[in-house]
Amino acid sequence: MKIFQASLCLLSLLLILPSLFAASSSSEDFDFFYFVQQWPGSYCDTQKSCCYPTSGKPAADFGIHGLWPNYKDGTYPSNCDQTKPFDSSTISDLISSMKKSWPTLACPSGSGEAFWEHEWEKHGTCSESVIDQHQYFQTALALKQKTNLLGALTKAGINPDGKSYTLESIRDSIKESTGFTPWIECNRGGSGNSQLYQVYQCVDRSGSGLIECPVFPHGKCGAEIEFPSF
Ligand code: 5GP
Ligand code: 5GP
Repeated sequence: MKIFQASLCLLSLLLILPSLFAASSSSEDFDFFYFVQQWPGSYCDTQKSCCYPTSGKPAADFGIHGLWPNYKDGTYPSNCDQTKPFDSSTISDLISSMKKSWPTLACPSGSGEAFWEHEWEKHGTCSESVIDQHQYFQTALALKQKTNLLGALTKAGINPDGKSYTLESIRDSIKESTGFTPWIECNRGGSGNSQLYQVYQCVDRSGSGLIECPVFPHGKCGAEIEFPSF
């Protein structure tokens, strides 16, 4: 009888074990990405100011900040794999596009590599179950083309002219053009004014397209925000 009970116990353990492992590996994983773009005018007109990259002043367009794996509960993994450092030789075919679409504005001036390295190590390494380093950067570049934020805004008469626009009109114009509601992050300009700083869009786990956000970040803008020139 004892042997029977013991083997039954062992059998149920064997049945349970795989599902325990499945649960723990999926908790190491992620549910969706935030694709985050920054308005350079709003990064640069703060009290802290900015530095143009060594390749020169970027275009007056949104630039990529990052592609961030996230959980549906609002938390997120970071720095997931120290064994996969940033290696610019794996993305040599993308560097010229990255300089245009993913420019760095932090001081001191740099080529962008330090920014891309930070984003890869903090966020990119957490998406390795789905995309490798080359795909990570390529996916972000493709999303920037596809979302065309500045096009969406200007089509609705919202221009980077230092004027104020309602948060609702900004959100609606991006929803109208992309099909999905974005989340807008504001910061403060030199005179303390609230302004359009970053746009968050949600992307499915494979990085192939926009989705409705399972959860929005915290924080809020005023009802009217400035869209600074750059
Ligand atoms: P901040 O505190 O300025 O909002 O964010 C600092 C950094 O934390 C961001 O640049 C990003 O690397 C990370 N971060 C902030 N919020 C989120 C989030 O909701 N999801 C993910 N994945 N990263 C975030
Ligand atoms: P995150 O906020 O994504 O964790 O970190 C952003 C890091 O990248 C900071 O250490 C910041 O100094 C650096 N960085 C370099 N260039 C830029 C830029 O153009 N925009 C932002 N937001 N951060 C930059």
